[in-house]
Amino acid sequence: MDGAQTPVTAPVLILLGPPGAGKGTQARMLEEQFGLVQLSTGDLLRSAVAAGTEAGQAADAVMKAGGLVSDEIVIAVLTDRLADADCAKGVVLDGFPRTTAQAEALDEMLARSGQTITAAISLEVDDVKMVRRVAGRFTCGDCGEGYHEDFKPTKKPGVCDACGSTSMTHRADDNAKTAMSRLDAYHVKTAPLIEYYEQKAALRRVDAMGSIDRIGQDIAQIVRGA
Ligand code: ADP
Ligand code: ZN
Repeated sequence: MDGAQTPVTAPVLILLGPPGAGKGTQARMLEEQFGLVQLSTGDLLRSAVAAGTEAGQAADAVMKAGGLVSDEIVIAVLTDRLADADCAKGVVLDGFPRTTAQAEALDEMLARSGQTITAAISLEVDDVKMVRRVAGRFTCGDCGEGYHEDFKPTKKPGVCDACGSTSMTHRADDNAKTAMSRLDAYHVKTAPLIEYYEQKAALRRVDAMGSIDRIGQDIAQIVRGA
């Protein structure tokens, strides 16, 4: 088992919430504000798919169908990334853990370097609205800035506000049908983690139906107090 010398020293934040809750947006804000490293297993898996690695090949169809990639693959991908030197600054996990087995694996990984989770922040949203949120979103292919057709359009159509690029990308799994499957997977496999972290007294709930900035402020307050 590698990852024994995982260099993470602090803090370790987890963002929990259904697809579309804003985990990626808030993780990017935390990265800028607190100098943390955003670790998105969704991004890591999409890179693996694009690179055609063995893990990527195994994950591709499952992701397109809106299911969960196997714990074995996801834990391996995350463990690998967590061992990189930059993660010593502290990390914000976005989309991991998503199952109890993943949460237990993370606890073990951290325990090996004498660490525990700083906080598991649950983004509380109105589920029914998540499908539309997911289906309307797109990303700048150059700088990674996230947008939404209704809630956060670019100022000039098709042009990134942040970097001026015109290469916008839309995730293959961001459509209404797949979003429903992802929401189901969330309820069955991931929602129990709320209880898991509540029992460890690590859970913090945030109302995530407000403005992006408001939610960001609430989360920042939790991080400062942690
Ligand atoms: P979202 O949170 O909007 O669903 P992500 O980018 O986090 O988007 O995940 C996209 C897809 O990647 C998921 O639907 C799933 O197939 C896969 N995935 C990401 N993280 C995990 C994980 N921790 N365990 C299993 N599958 C995952
Ligand atoms: Zn851009």
